[in-house]
Amino acid sequence: MPAPSTNPRLTHVGETRPWTLDGARELYAMPFNDLLFRAQTVHRANFDPNRVQLSKLLSIKTGGCPEDCGYCNQSAHHATGLKASKLMEVERVIAEARKAKEGGATRYCMGAAWRSPKPRDMDMVVAMVQGVKALGLETCMTLGMLTPAQAERLADAGLDYYNHNIDTSERFYQEIVTTRRFEDRLETLGHVRQAGIKVCSGGILGMGETADDRIDMLVTLANLPVPPESVPLNLLIPMPGTKLADAAPVDPIEFVRSVALARILMPRSHVRLSAGRTAMTVEMQALCFFAGANSIFVGDTLLTAANPGDDQDSALLRRLGLTPVAPEAA
Ligand code: SF4
Repeated sequence: MPAPSTNPRLTHVGETRPWTLDGARELYAMPFNDLLFRAQTVHRANFDPNRVQLSKLLSIKTGGCPEDCGYCNQSAHHATGLKASKLMEVERVIAEARKAKEGGATRYCMGAAWRSPKPRDMDMVVAMVQGVKALGLETCMTLGMLTPAQAERLADAGLDYYNHNIDTSERFYQEIVTTRRFEDRLETLGHVRQAGIKVCSGGILGMGETADDRIDMLVTLANLPVPPESVPLNLLIPMPGTKLADAAPVDPIEFVRSVALARILMPRSHVRLSAGRTAMTVEMQALCFFAGANSIFVGDTLLTAANPGDDQDSALLRRLGLTPVAPEAA
């Protein structure tokens, strides 16, 4: 039986950046109970441990994407049978956002399957941000790579968050995506931060990466000039027709370890359980909350993938005694 840790580095709540890969590896490899206790301690020092932020995600432009992300059924490189759609009308987006607010969401995330927005798209996207914000919701968009000028324009429209995942480690990235580079992702994150928009960036687990890739990804995020305010962690949902259709499932305990590591490395970020909750048991989700996850996507669809419905999530939160955060504290 491993002895209780006497290493002060492993029991200290606050940490200073930059994180080293070795330090993060040491945390990830701790006995599970020690790791979860450490993560929960960090969590309690920074958040109300029984509150969860609820976000709602809408696909405003589906499919036909020129990028070749190996996990994505919206890529035009994959024969997934998904029908591509045009950019959604602004009024419809706002109507959907109103419904999400009535359902308890505090943040509305809008995603378009683009490499980057075209100049002609920007007026509509800006109108969406303004319309959704006017409902009293926080706004988030994920539109692909942005130029500094596009980021500025979105910031001027009042966009609160921009999502741009780094997906995995720099080493493994090229195995998953070949149409852009890891540095391109970091560059867009820099433009978003520079424009004064909050950053949402995380990754996907279960793409065939090693534990070291997961650790490396989290260290990269934690060591950004300012860590992302939101860190979505997705469990891969293998999509038929994609390159990763037959990917082996990730060990649930490894997933929980990654959540705990994210919480420790980024103490003040919202760590979100994103895609893949339909493949998680209630007990696994409960462990993720204990490990420091404090945000979920609600609603029965995420872009194109299934998500537990509102009834299931309300029941889950009730069973665990978790309550949604109020909009102004999200
Ligand atoms: S993840 Fe985004 S950028 Fe990549 S193929 Fe899918 S929609 Fe396109």
